[in-house]
Amino acid sequence: MKIGFHMSIAGGFDEARREAKRLHCEVIQIFVKNPRSWAQKSWQEKEIEAFRRLSLEIPVFAHLSYLPNLAKIDEDERHMNGFIHEVQLCCVLGIPSIVVHCGSRKEREKGIAMAARAVNEVLKRFDIEVLLENASGQGASIGRNIDELAGIYERIARKEKVFLCLDTAHLFQSGYNIRQKRIWNALIGEIEKGIGKEKIKFFHLNDSSTAAGSMVDRHWHIGKGELGIEFFRSLLNDKRFAHLAGVMETPKMGKMDIRNMKVMRSLLSPLVSRSSS
Ligand SMILES: [Zn+2]
Ligand SMILES: [Zn+2]
Repeated sequence: MKIGFHMSIAGGFDEARREAKRLHCEVIQIFVKNPRSWAQKSWQEKEIEAFRRLSLEIPVFAHLSYLPNLAKIDEDERHMNGFIHEVQLCCVLGIPSIVVHCGSRKEREKGIAMAARAVNEVLKRFDIEVLLENASGQGASIGRNIDELAGIYERIARKEKVFLCLDTAHLFQSGYNIRQKRIWNALIGEIEKGIGKEKIKFFHLNDSSTAAGSMVDRHWHIGKGELGIEFFRSLLNDKRFAHLAGVMETPKMGKMDIRNMKVMRSLLSPLVSRSSS
């Protein structure tokens, strides 16, 4: 599996490229705009060029920012417009895939239908892959189990453009105790049945500081949380996913990125590990 980090682009794409190389990332994920603001943005030509230098060396996935709530596009037009704006920013750069949270809404069925409508709307207008991320279950987040993700997926018109991003911490927090091999395999079976195993495209490789089923979303350093090191060893060496990529969204604390990457590399069996220097 190719491994990297979610990276800040606050210092520009050249800076992100240097940082990604320093950390030996084989893939990265970015927000294409300030994730906590509705303000729109546009790219300057030199930013597009810097992005090209970055993406030629390292594959880049985008992550939709926090404000657009795909489950409530019928309540406030900013949600759909915000989603479209970010997809547009991705298309200008040439980013092929965007990870999205499926939004949050107390009326589950309505939320599932709206999230699907939002994705359909985008896929009518843009050529991009949308990766639905599973939720921790915190608040009223949609996508907290495979049934809800399958409910969105079955309503998608262009299914060939929609995939899954599995966040390991969110899976655990939402009630799948994937530390147990049996439950991990049952989960993959459930995905195979409801959506298709081949639809798993990307991972968020996070440990969790909160318990299984806590529905509280706290990412933690690899091997130092409740999921533990053996879970990541088994995932990274699982042949079914060896061709995929994943990023850590672990807290940016001191030298912890370097440490988390070292831990991840040490888990890859020599046969599948690639040179990181
Ligand atoms: Zn995530
Ligand atoms: Zn999270």
